[in-house]
Amino acid sequence: MTKLAIPSPVITTIPVHGSEEVFPVRRVYCIGKNYADHIIEMGNDPKKSPIFFQKNTDNVDTSGKFPYPPQSSDVHHELELVIALKSGRSNISEADAYKHIYGFAVGLDMTRRDLQTAAKKDGNPWEAGKAFERSAPMGVLTKIEESGNMDSGKTTLTVNGDVKQDGNLNQMIWKIPRMIAHLSTFYDITAGDIIMTGTPAGVGPVVKGDKLIGTIDKLTSLEVIVV
Ligand code: MN
Repeated sequence: MTKLAIPSPVITTIPVHGSEEVFPVRRVYCIGKNYADHIIEMGNDPKKSPIFFQKNTDNVDTSGKFPYPPQSSDVHHELELVIALKSGRSNISEADAYKHIYGFAVGLDMTRRDLQTAAKKDGNPWEAGKAFERSAPMGVLTKIEESGNMDSGKTTLTVNGDVKQDGNLNQMIWKIPRMIAHLSTFYDITAGDIIMTGTPAGVGPVVKGDKLIGTIDKLTSLEVIVV
């Protein structure tokens, strides 16, 4: 047996609705620019293709608390459907994409917008803006057998009771099969990988004390307090 030089890092897991099992996370892929109305609000061209970036696995957080991060004074909420994969490989066809899905959850792609904007301007990587501590608050996973394919469904984010994001999954530019197929042309995606699928319009800043509630039809809502 391999003897570890230091204690093993903790595996990141997501609870599963109606189950004592938890879902172990391998990688976190994110899609940017997947809703036209959000692309327009960010001043970008909606005719360009969506893009991929990644967060760190241990950025996923199911505690219901989001600590306001350092190095930023403009942290935004982005409400997103999360796909969890139970299998995968390279070059998955769109026709086969749903066979690899374990389930779905409500997630938040929290973003240090000031750092992301500076990175974009200077042509630098986005990690400082996107992949920071606890930057991916996530709700309970619902198995696809219970949720269905999630190709449409109302998505809403409220902050302190006020509706800030109000969209529908059917507004995605890349639908679920296409994003899985496309991602699998770049990477050997596999069991444990999750995909954050982009955000509709209405992103905006949060401050300490804010209560965020994200809801997507058929899924367990996500409640997060900014601390
Ligand atoms: Mn996003």
